[in-house]
Amino acid sequence: MTTPVELEFWFSDRSAADAIAEDVLAVFHQVDRNMSRYRDDSELSELNRLAADAPVKVSPELFEVLKKAGEVAELSDGAFDISFGSVGFLYDYRERQQPSEEDIRSRLGHINYQDIILDAAERTVFYRQQGLLVDLGGIAKGFAVDLGIERLVRAGVYHARLSAGGDLRLLGDKRGSPWLVGVRDPRSEERNAVVLPLANVAISTSGDYERFFINDQGERVHHILSPGTGKSVRGVQSVTIIGNDALTTDGLSTAVFVLGPEKGLEMIEGLPGIDAIIIDDQRIMHFSEGLAPPES
Ligand code: ADP
Ligand code: MG
Repeated sequence: MTTPVELEFWFSDRSAADAIAEDVLAVFHQVDRNMSRYRDDSELSELNRLAADAPVKVSPELFEVLKKAGEVAELSDGAFDISFGSVGFLYDYRERQQPSEEDIRSRLGHINYQDIILDAAERTVFYRQQGLLVDLGGIAKGFAVDLGIERLVRAGVYHARLSAGGDLRLLGDKRGSPWLVGVRDPRSEERNAVVLPLANVAISTSGDYERFFINDQGERVHHILSPGTGKSVRGVQSVTIIGNDALTTDGLSTAVFVLGPEKGLEMIEGLPGIDAIIIDDQRIMHFSEGLAPPES
């Protein structure tokens, strides 16, 4: 992962605390080895090479993430779709590369989460079509954050804040007061759009400013793609989701980004315990009912 990981926690014993921090960091390396599509030796890359030929047995961790990805895909009617890789891999944001219309057209048919067949009993994965490629960039970091929190709990930690890029989870409060979590202004490095006092929740933000470039036509080419068009999603600058676990909030933040404010909020209102803040391309903020101020 090319993402900075930040960990803050309280523990009585300094040297034990260092070992706990190492242990949490190791989780991120492990998830990277399992789920990065940028490494040829990851379990995911192996899956992408083999799974269209025959079912492939995968680790419980990879299976869990694929299963959750399938659920978010169903919920969002395919707005969230990890099989976008056939087109997605043609983008290189650092190199300012984007696929041609022709490239997109010839590969769009390979995007379909329903062609990823999971067998829970065998713990295998099969791609029902050649050319389908999975990318877990929209959900794997949240999973890693959850695993990290699990390690902290097991080690006897009660108050912690663990983040990896846009995915954050809070364990307990900040020793008597809430943690203050800033939701960044999508068009400013320093400014927060809003600051939320929170405890014991997961919170994920997906933004069009994380990985992007402005192309020769002046368009913002960014890393959240519409599975229907193979192009960067328009209409939203950032989506923040609050929930109980980061696997869920990570997947949903990307899903709501693709769905847009109206359909996105509609989906969120149907999910108990989940809230959303959407900043649209007019910089208007949309809140789910659980966050909206009471009507006066
Ligand atoms: P980050 O925390 O890295 O900003 P996000 O949670 O915002 O990640 O997800 C963005 C990533 O999700 C992209 O870099 C890509 O790997 C993946 N992605 C892009 N479009 C989709 C989509 N429609 N469905 C699922 N995953 C996507
Ligand atoms: Mg996400």
